[in-house]
Amino acid sequence: MLYNSTQNAAEVVSAAQAIAQGISKDGGLFVPQDFPKYDTETLKALLKTDYKGRAKKIFSDFLTDFTEDEINECVEKAYTSSKFGSENPAPLNFCKLDNKTLNILELWHGPTCAFKDMALQILPHLLTKSLKKTYDGKDAVILVATSGDTGKAALEGFKDVDHTKIIVFYPVDGVSPMQKQQMNTQEGSNVKVCAIKGNFDDAQTGVKKIFTTPSIAEKLAENNMLFSSANSINWGRLLPQIVYYVSAYCDMVNEGKIKFGDKINVVVPTGNFGNILASYYASIMGLPINKFICASNSNNVLTDFIRTGIYDKNRHFYTTISPSMDILVSSNLERLLYMLSGNDDKTTKIWMDSLKSEGKYEVSDKVKSVIKEKFYGGYCDDVNTKATIHKIFEQDKYLCDTHTAVAVNVYTQYVDETGDTTPTVIASTASPYKFSKSVLQAVAPDCDLPDNEFDMVDKLHELTGMAVPVPLANLKNKKVRFSDVTEVDKMPNYVLSALGIE
Ligand SMILES: *Cc1c(COP(=O)(O)O)cnc(C)c1O
Repeated sequence: MLYNSTQNAAEVVSAAQAIAQGISKDGGLFVPQDFPKYDTETLKALLKTDYKGRAKKIFSDFLTDFTEDEINECVEKAYTSSKFGSENPAPLNFCKLDNKTLNILELWHGPTCAFKDMALQILPHLLTKSLKKTYDGKDAVILVATSGDTGKAALEGFKDVDHTKIIVFYPVDGVSPMQKQQMNTQEGSNVKVCAIKGNFDDAQTGVKKIFTTPSIAEKLAENNMLFSSANSINWGRLLPQIVYYVSAYCDMVNEGKIKFGDKINVVVPTGNFGNILASYYASIMGLPINKFICASNSNNVLTDFIRTGIYDKNRHFYTTISPSMDILVSSNLERLLYMLSGNDDKTTKIWMDSLKSEGKYEVSDKVKSVIKEKFYGGYCDDVNTKATIHKIFEQDKYLCDTHTAVAVNVYTQYVDETGDTTPTVIASTASPYKFSKSVLQAVAPDCDLPDNEFDMVDKLHELTGMAVPVPLANLKNKKVRFSDVTEVDKMPNYVLSALGIE
């Protein structure tokens, strides 16, 4: 299977090249030229296997330049029960809300307690193998600018992976105390973490600048290294997300919640549009999905887009209690638009150029009508997010995080509006303990809020009895390894010195 750029269909690469390179030279995103189609027999065979078996089958159909042994090794190393707490890294859980059953796909049992682990635990293995195929003998240097969650998930994924080094920059006052502790105590011999005196945009701009400074690239090349990227537009981060939708469908059948062949809906709390796009790709492959319900917080640019066909990021940016969805440019939407426009690279490029210059574009009537038919967009503000957490816990003692609550709320809006009774899988993207403060305020609005986040975790546990994930419970006693703070304009020096090649 070959891949091409969404903005230049003539730019064709192998899977390994797409993963090693991350983004196309013309600025477009890599997409498969066609999708494997799973007939009844193929899907039925997946019912009988476990998560890893399903992952191996799907990976092998997309990564045709990888050997079976290579794929097996990646999957076996990534989804271990020691990292995900059980043999199924993405289990379904069930609870009741009013008269509805919520089928909750818990994607947060990995080492950092958020769904990015599902992709970032396997990406380093896919990437090192891709680099070996394309740039043999070089070590990859991963630079990450983070507002919290991605940095930690990338650190955990890349720690002690041979032939890689990872350096993470975060805004010194821009992450939660819990996130800071998660990153500054990171283990691993190939990791570095540094705060910068600036905000997230400064960190991101600083990283981009380092990536594109020729003298730095030359220094790396002299030392047999090259920069690579772990950000969410890399195909190696999207592909692993297809697996858990297929797996959830199989589990729904195996648990007797649906009959084989029945359609389901999916609800996804969405930021960059990666997670929900993976579910759409699964349906293109033959998974019976009826509706894709795209849930946003007050940054509801996608809700408006799905309803009108106009994408307009010129609007107020809200800082919400579901911060991983505080995004106004949903990068992966580009891949959907490319597909819905009939793989029209020229038109996709026009829309993306317009987004860059005007902050806005309007899609064609053809694309609008497919989006209207397959997608539903809705949003939920902070007040309703907290009310939703409160209600689910009150009714069925199920505790969910702020992002998942946005999804549940939008799902109830959808059902109220349409009356649709199709069984529905709701993607749950973070452990409630990762956002203890907001969840605590939601569950017990009258309780005195402890003044540090670890005490909030304890308090939430005391009130709900729900188990605290081991990685978060252990965090308090971990040794701080990193306390560097640097000026934004010193970031290049920091990188070279961290790599020992000043
Ligand atoms: C990243 C993230 C999201 C958004 O996922 P996208 O793939 O960017 O749409 C939602 N919830 C949590 C907890 C996240 O970390």
